[in-house]
Amino acid sequence: MKTDIQIAQEAVMQPITEVAERAGIAAEDLELYGKYKAKLSDGFWEKVKDNEDGKLVLVTAINPTPAGEGKTTTTIGLGQAMAKLGKNAVIALREPSLGPCFGIKGGAAGGGYAQVVPMEDLNLHFTGDFHAITSANNLLAAMLDNHIQQGNALQIDPRQVVWKRCLDMNDRVLRNIVVGLGNKMDGMVREDHFVITVASEIMAVLCLADDLQDLKKRLGRIIVAYNFAGEPVTADQLEATGAMTALLKDAIKPNLIQTLEHTPALVHGGPFANIAHGCNSVRATKTALKMSDITITEAGFGADLGAEKFLDIKCRKAGLKPDAVVLVATVRALKYNGGVLKADLGTENLDALKKGIVNLEKHIENIQKYGVPVVVTLNSFVTDTEAENQFIRRFCEEKGCEFALSEVWEKGGEGGIALAEKVLETLETKKSSFHTLYEDSLSLKEKIETISREIYGAGKVVYEPAAEKQLARIEALGFGEFPVCMAKNQYSLSDDASRLGRPENFDIHIREVYVSAGAGFVVALTGAIMTMPGLPKVPAANQIDVSADGKITGLF
Ligand code: ADP
Ligand code: MG
Repeated sequence: MKTDIQIAQEAVMQPITEVAERAGIAAEDLELYGKYKAKLSDGFWEKVKDNEDGKLVLVTAINPTPAGEGKTTTTIGLGQAMAKLGKNAVIALREPSLGPCFGIKGGAAGGGYAQVVPMEDLNLHFTGDFHAITSANNLLAAMLDNHIQQGNALQIDPRQVVWKRCLDMNDRVLRNIVVGLGNKMDGMVREDHFVITVASEIMAVLCLADDLQDLKKRLGRIIVAYNFAGEPVTADQLEATGAMTALLKDAIKPNLIQTLEHTPALVHGGPFANIAHGCNSVRATKTALKMSDITITEAGFGADLGAEKFLDIKCRKAGLKPDAVVLVATVRALKYNGGVLKADLGTENLDALKKGIVNLEKHIENIQKYGVPVVVTLNSFVTDTEAENQFIRRFCEEKGCEFALSEVWEKGGEGGIALAEKVLETLETKKSSFHTLYEDSLSLKEKIETISREIYGAGKVVYEPAAEKQLARIEALGFGEFPVCMAKNQYSLSDDASRLGRPENFDIHIREVYVSAGAGFVVALTGAIMTMPGLPKVPAANQIDVSADGKITGLF
């Protein structure tokens, strides 16, 4: 069997100008980054902004397992399949981070015959967006420490600096550091921290901003620290906003690349799906809606995190209305949820499937709470058996939910025709009456409790004393109207990663709450959430190499 990178490297790409032309984008509206990558100019947005929106389809999944679910693969394959049916569809995805790429998970360009290319470029430096975000983040950090050094007119309390430095790398030794060591001229000594670039608030801000002016406003509102009186200090007060916006001027423009079947893909931005909202930029989604009949987009992790945030944060803030949700499940992941060990997932096991399918059931019910029609798709693995497939199909039909088998990993667009037809039928016959799960006017606690009860299936929410205080402070500062961005482990519906399947009546523990004032949401942490991951004992990086003729191997 060929690896993802082998398939990607064998593909004969078309010049991006040709892909663009077929998608109705003139050469003058492209900013080329080599032959196969381009950014869409602001001029293009001006041309299409009054077009009617196409349909919006979200791809999400059951809870992730070490077996892999294939949301990106399904999103890309569905886009390829739509083109096979003569439909004008655009996919919108997140950009990969170098952390997982060199760590455990590998890249994020899809898999098998459902990939976007150039795969190596996308997984490595791409068009420099992450570099720009890292630079803007660290400019703000440098200006903050310099402000303290130069007399501290804003009376910033060095013990209450909340802005962290960032780097797009899994590097655990940078989680907790001391800066400013040395003599008087080397700055004020204080404890500092690094997060991975995708966890930077700037990433969330870039992905939620409508345009450059909105980006600038949001950057200015970012809270970097509190002063000795306990009042917030912002990026605007440090006079950092203009320079940060300058660094991000091009990063806010969506990137265009192609699928293995030369259909258009907008790949732009990539925030975490725990401390941030976990989907590609609003700018890319809105552009895709204007230039196509069907936009297919992905949200990170499982539907309890990714889809909930897509619907309650991104759609609420950007005024988007999804028309259908594709819920990806795999036989392997459902068996894993039914208690099978990773090594045994290749063997037929209907009992475990029966036990584990409650996880899928809960996610179907959750999406239905938003008034959006659901299509379940089974991402087919070669080890799946006919009996297992039939079991899942019958289960979905009994739940009144559409079902389609997807073989896009093995067959590309051709393998996604059944799914594409099911999605088209759903778009035509089932009307979405999308609404968010909760109103802006609820208190922050009511919002946390609504998500915990309705989406996770929790009995009650338990707040640590520190979280109680933080909630009161955030509401007093006037941020009570913000939606809540729940940071929870992705493996379980509960806040305990070991509770698989469909746990019920458990407690959700809120340990810490803070506001991302620029992004426009309040983050509630249910446990220790890793914002600077580490590398595993044998990092994926060990296998990556470049041959004498410049060909990269070992990326996946
Ligand atoms: P997600 O977006 O849910 O994280 P991806 O689509 O990135 O998942 O897929 C994760 C990994 O699983 C990729 O390496 C991909 O090649 C692999 N994969 C996805 N679907 C299949 C499949 N049907 N059979 C085998 N491998 C698959
Ligand atoms: Mg993905």
